[in-house]
Amino acid sequence: ALVSRDDHDTPMVRFDAVTRRFAEVTAVDALSLDIRAGEFFALLGPSGCGKTTLLRMLAGFERPDDGRILLAGQDIAAVPPWRRPVNMMFQSYALFPHLSVAGNVAFGLKQERLPRAEVESRVAAMLRLVRLDGLGSRKPHQLSGGQRQRVALARALAKHPKVLLLDEPLAALDKKLREETQFELMALQERLDTTFVVVTHDQEEAMTLADRIGVMNHGRLAQVGTPAEIYEQPRSRWIAGFIGDVNFFEGSVTAVDGDDVEMTDAAGRVFRAAGAPPVRTGDRITLAVRPEKISVATGSGAAEPINSVAGKVADIGYLGDISVYKVRLDDGAVIKAAVTNARRRIESSIDWDDTVRLSFPPDAAVVLTE
Ligand code: ATP
Repeated sequence: ALVSRDDHDTPMVRFDAVTRRFAEVTAVDALSLDIRAGEFFALLGPSGCGKTTLLRMLAGFERPDDGRILLAGQDIAAVPPWRRPVNMMFQSYALFPHLSVAGNVAFGLKQERLPRAEVESRVAAMLRLVRLDGLGSRKPHQLSGGQRQRVALARALAKHPKVLLLDEPLAALDKKLREETQFELMALQERLDTTFVVVTHDQEEAMTLADRIGVMNHGRLAQVGTPAEIYEQPRSRWIAGFIGDVNFFEGSVTAVDGDDVEMTDAAGRVFRAAGAPPVRTGDRITLAVRPEKISVATGSGAAEPINSVAGKVADIGYLGDISVYKVRLDDGAVIKAAVTNARRRIESSIDWDDTVRLSFPPDAAVVLTE
C-alpha cells in the first residue's frame, strides 16, 4: 500500500522528540517517528504505554509538552483539530443514535458547509465503499456491530482525510467478524491510498493489518519495523516476548567467529547462533528461539553436540493446524515447540511423559544482549 518512491522523501507524519506528561506520568517520552505517505502503520503496545496519547496529539485533542509534530512537512502545533487533514475513528464508534446512517456519514460534511449535492454524492460513495448501500435510512440501533463499525469508518473517511487514525477499531467485534473486517480494512486502505494509523494492543491484529509496526513501551518506541522484521529480529527480550511465543536460552559466549557465536549455558550445553550482533567471549547473552523453529524427535537419542536439549513432554496443546508441546528439561526449564499437523502421521505422534529431544538450527536463534 505504499505510494511511489518520490513521495517518500517527506514523511506524511513526523513526530520529532515529542513528549507529553500527565502529572508524574510521562505518557510519551521524547518519541521520534516517521510515518510514510500511503502506509498502514500500527502502534502496538501494552496498556498504558502511551499509544492513545500519541494518536490524540496527532489528531489535535492533546498538546505535546515538548517536540514537534509535522504533517506533510508542516508543523501543525497551531492548527486546531477540525482544521487538520486528519480524522479519527474511535473504539466506541461514537455514532449519533438519533441520526440515520446517512445522517451520521454526512455530519462532518454539513459542518463544513459543503453544497447539498456534494454531501449527498459523497455519502452515497462512502456507503458504497463500506458496502452499506441501501441502509442509509436505518438508525444505528438497527445495525449489527460490524455494520456500525463500517458506518463509523465511512463517517471518518467522508472528509477525505490525508491520515485516518483508528483507535482499537475492531475491539468490539467478535473474533470471526474481526478477521473478516481486518481484510476489508486492508483492501479499503489499499484502494484509497490514504495513510492509516491504527492503535492496538493486539499483536496479531497489528501483524495482519500493518505495513510497519511501532512497538511502544513506557512512552518510547522499543522497535519499528515490518511485521516480519519484528517477529524474526526482535531487538530485546521484551519485544521477543511481547510479539508471539518464544523460548529463551541463557549463557555465556564461549567462541566468536565472525557473525557466528557459540554459547555455553549453566548446565554445560553448547549452542550456536548465526548472524549475531557484535559480542565478545565471556559476554552474557540470551538466545531467542520461536517454538515453530524447534523440532521434536522421540527418544533422548544420542546427544547432538549443539542446539539440542532432552526433556519430558509435560503438556500437549492440539490447536488444529499445529500442536504445541511443552517439554520440561532436567533443570526444570520448560521449552515450547510447535509442530505443524499438516503432514503429521498419527501413529508417530508423541505422548505425555515421553522423553523427547528438541533441536534447532543455528540460524533459528536470535542473539539478544538486552
Ligand atoms: P490503553 O491501551 O490502555 O488505552 P495506551 O497505551 O493508549 O493504553 P495512554 O492512554 O496513552 O496509553 O496512557 C499513557 C499513560 O498516560 C497512562 O499511564 C495513563 O494513565 C496516562 N494518562 C493518559 N491520559 C491521561 C490524562 N488525561 N490524565 C492523566 N493521565 C493520563
